Amino acid sequence: MAAARGLGPVLRYNVVVSDLCPCARPKALCVCPEGPPLANATAVLVLQHPQEQDKLLGTAGIVARRLARARVAVGLSWRGLAQAWGDAVEPATWGVLYLGSVRAPAGAGPLVALSRGGTPLADQGGAREGLQGLVALDGSWSQAKALWWRNPWLSRLRRFALVPAAPSLYGELRREARDDAVSTLEAVAMALVELERDPALGEGLMAPFRDLLARARAQGLRHGAGPGPNRRPNVRRRDRRSRL
Ligand SMILES: [Zn+2]
Repeated sequence: MAAARGLGPVLRYNVVVSDLCPCARPKALCVCPEGPPLANATAVLVLQHPQEQDKLLGTAGIVARRLARARVAVGLSWRGLAQAWGDAVEPATWGVLYLGSVRAPAGAGPLVALSRGGTPLADQGGAREGLQGLVALDGSWSQAKALWWRNPWLSRLRRFALVPAAPSLYGELRREARDDAVSTLEAVAMALVELERDPALGEGLMAPFRDLLARARAQGLRHGAGPGPNRRPNVRRRDRRSRL
């Protein structure tokens, strides 16, 4: 057994490199799709920070492989939406999953349309009308913030905030800076179910994610990084001295 390079510094996991699937996961953790991709009407563009290196548990690749209309762009900045997406698109018909948290208006679902000032819009339906695509930012909290600030064109897209009803299924496998942070895949699944009123689409995305986490837990994988800045330490006692 040799430690594989490039699997990210935060996970301790030894794999034989020849056991890697083309998706870059060891075969024991591969959830590559079988069967046709899921038909999503709303296109999904994931902007991935180049230092998001969680190749074992990252979810952007799963989103791109599972959905018929989804792409991942890796980088720090793009001139605009068309360059990031790789084709001519009309930015006015696209939205972005905003990073800020929001107090959802009464009766609102998990996807709340916001004004540029960050307050919920009165006309939620209007904000969704004719929506062609959605941008999601992939990386840690600080990496996602960097992507937001380095791409001013994002602030001109329609703005949506997610209000997750439950914490991320990552659980102990990944610590986030914020308790309401969910994985890119969970965010995309939640948004698409809301926009397309198609629970099967969400389930089709969530199934491989649940499978991945079950495999990771069965392999004894655990997060090796310290707790995020806004989170209470939740590490095993014997680890505590070296972390804090
Ligand atoms: Zn694979």
